[in-house]
Amino acid sequence: LQAFHEKHPDFPLRGVFYILPDSAFGQPRRAAEKVRALIAAGFEIGNHTVSHGHLKRLSDAEAQKEMAEAVRKIRVLAPEARVESIALPFGESPKNRALLASGTSGGTSYRHRAAMLVGSNPAPSPVSRKFDPMRLPRIQAIAGAFGLDYWLNWLKEHPEKRYVSDGDPATVTVPRALQQEVDAARLQGATLRTYN
Ligand SMILES: [Zn+2]
Repeated sequence: LQAFHEKHPDFPLRGVFYILPDSAFGQPRRAAEKVRALIAAGFEIGNHTVSHGHLKRLSDAEAQKEMAEAVRKIRVLAPEARVESIALPFGESPKNRALLASGTSGGTSYRHRAAMLVGSNPAPSPVSRKFDPMRLPRIQAIAGAFGLDYWLNWLKEHPEKRYVSDGDPATVTVPRALQQEVDAARLQGATLRTYN
């Protein structure tokens, strides 16, 4: 990522690292140093729970503990960490979906603006009616079916399926034919522009 960013400085150095704080990077003794270096470089640290358990099998209290404890432990590694999203182990949500967005356990609270599923397809545009920030699909960086090359080729063959930002944060530009797919509530003050 850093090499690519150096070569293409207009492509920002961004990414979220969803770590298990007790065994981060397979090198727990250097975890604090690594987490802090990532944050300093512009990356985010995300929640991946403490024990990578099956959230849907847990009670409300247990599920909150898995997520809140992870935040507490990440902050022990790096007090400056702002944990704003979660990658769901096995793509499972807690039985009580509301607990994904926020919860408390043992004096630590968490607040997630987004939750990542495990696979395996591109996410809808952030202004699409199909966009659900608490169920965001991801493309896995693996070879073969539904991996990175598969989807990059698919998107090349289906350019009409790609959402390309117009680059202006104040506007959202879509083909007129797709205007109905835009959720007005998701524009957050941006002006919708259409073209034929
Ligand atoms: Zn995982």
